[in-house]
Amino acid sequence: MSSSGTLRIRVDSDKCQGNARCKSLAPELFELDEWGYAREIGDGTVPAGLEDKAWLAQANCPEIAIAIVEE
Ligand code: SF4
Repeated sequence: MSSSGTLRIRVDSDKCQGNARCKSLAPELFELDEWGYAREIGDGTVPAGLEDKAWLAQANCPEIAIAIVEE
């Protein structure tokens, strides 16, 4: 597993329960839709320097709805 690749996050909308924990931990990476469910901002690419926040949000999602892939 490379540690130098760009990370990309993706929220599984079928699993997300909308408690917004991800957004409170990483507001740069997640936004809420009009029903309060989370989605990744833009195409989900994690800007340099925000990788730790991405992993933190993923680890704290109680629904295991956040996937992170390294590209
Ligand atoms: S922490 Fe998980 S379940 Fe909660 S809003 Fe974010 S993606 Fe959805």
